[in-house]
Amino acid sequence: MTRRIMLWYRNDLRVHDHEALHCAVREGAQILPVFIDSPTLGRHPLPGNPHIPSFRRKFRLESLIELDQRWREWNGSLVVMSGEPDQVIPHLCAKYGIDEVFLNAEASDDEYRQYQQLARNLQSAPTSCRLFYGASMIHPEDLPFELQDLPDIFTQYRKLVEARLRVRACFATPTAVQALPHQETPFEPQLPQTIVDVRSALPFQGGESAGHHRLQHYLWESDAIRTYKETRNGLIGTDYSSKLSPWLANGCLSAQHVFHEVRRYETERVANDSTYWMIFELLWRDYFRLVMEKFGTALFSLQGISPRNASPPRGRHIGTFEKWVNGRTGDRFIDANMRELLSTGFMSNRGRQNVASHFVHDLGMDWRLGAQYFEELLVDYNVYSNWGNWAYVAGVGNDPRENRRFNIARQANMYDPAGTYQALWLD
Ligand SMILES: Cc1cc2nc3c(=O)[nH]c(=O)nc-3n(C[C@H](O)[C@H](O)[C@H](O)COP(=O)(O)OP(=O)(O)OC[C@H]3O[C@@H](n4cnc5c(N)ncnc54)[C@H](O)[C@@H]3O)c2cc1C
Repeated sequence: MTRRIMLWYRNDLRVHDHEALHCAVREGAQILPVFIDSPTLGRHPLPGNPHIPSFRRKFRLESLIELDQRWREWNGSLVVMSGEPDQVIPHLCAKYGIDEVFLNAEASDDEYRQYQQLARNLQSAPTSCRLFYGASMIHPEDLPFELQDLPDIFTQYRKLVEARLRVRACFATPTAVQALPHQETPFEPQLPQTIVDVRSALPFQGGESAGHHRLQHYLWESDAIRTYKETRNGLIGTDYSSKLSPWLANGCLSAQHVFHEVRRYETERVANDSTYWMIFELLWRDYFRLVMEKFGTALFSLQGISPRNASPPRGRHIGTFEKWVNGRTGDRFIDANMRELLSTGFMSNRGRQNVASHFVHDLGMDWRLGAQYFEELLVDYNVYSNWGNWAYVAGVGNDPRENRRFNIARQANMYDPAGTYQALWLD
């Protein structure tokens, strides 16, 4: 009898370079693709109950709509359900006689517990789970050290991996797939109404084809990657940086695929400091994931993973928090960045570093509140990069020795000398 495999999608909303999908097809199985919208995942109450626009939710829904369309081309469709995965999945497995559940591993505590609870609930069922690794640029098995030996300093990690950099080849998108027929309600979501701000760095559209278009544009059409190292600290416009982060965060683009495209660009056009720097940033992305895998929930504590006896600020004053959130601190550079985030769900890397530093080191606030707010707002939120960067800026992350306090006036002078960015968002 044909094997039946459930493909449980989480942050891997694509069909290209998807090892689990590839394996299920190779095994000749009938496949049931499933996404569970879990209401409890990563939810923390915020003080003052700020208004949270739905940029991230919209992006995810658009990504799911496209994934569903892909499966319809294979005469199937994506099952999208709400609830707790450890309850919903065993129910679906029993209903459709599933032999095995395939999923991509996540390293965050919440998602790992979800998986463990599911595996426990399936223990008495004839269904097993198989984990794949599709989120990082470097496959964990190709790292030149064991997880417990991950260096606490990024530069040490980078040198180790660069000395033997190996990024696996991508898995081809399957052409013929046997989708398992099902009777679940078709996925026809209402997209939340969001207003597209004309000042937006990019009107982000979810889904893997939009991700591929963006990559194509940034590398091949605009050639913007050629000068990435010089432009990456920019604040205005579409091409000062790649803007690939939302697609990477949702897994609409595979990091391996981006790597190989950059390498192809280096071969066919130019290899320079800028193309190197793009890979360098993707190494940061991998690194923060490994940091969370190594330290687990410690990264969510006030002291973070700092080996020192750090005592970061612990302010939780609602008024101060609300002024920061709404871009009304009185510092024009900070306020412009915070308003961009609130209006679009995106902020440049330069902006993020400044508003985070200001929140912690100038306003004396508990860095975790800032991280939680970013978690709700960012269209490219990813648990590893967000919490890792926040802890880093707060001085309680990896490499906690340096003073991470930014001189905001100096930064504004350096990166927005004519005040154009501030005027764009404030005047
Ligand atoms: C406080 C704070 C919070 C952040 N939260 C997130 C988050 O939730 N999700 C997220 O993807 N990035 C986060 N970043 C990192 C970085 O700001 C964004 O990845 C970047 O601005 C996205 O724009 P881009 O795709 O144009 O990046 P580019 O400059 O074009 O870089 C290419 C890719 O490299 C990766 N990258 C670049 N910088 C970093 C970095 N510092 N850390 C990890 N990966 C990096 C991203 O995947 C990015 O898409 C955060 C940074 C700070 C300081």
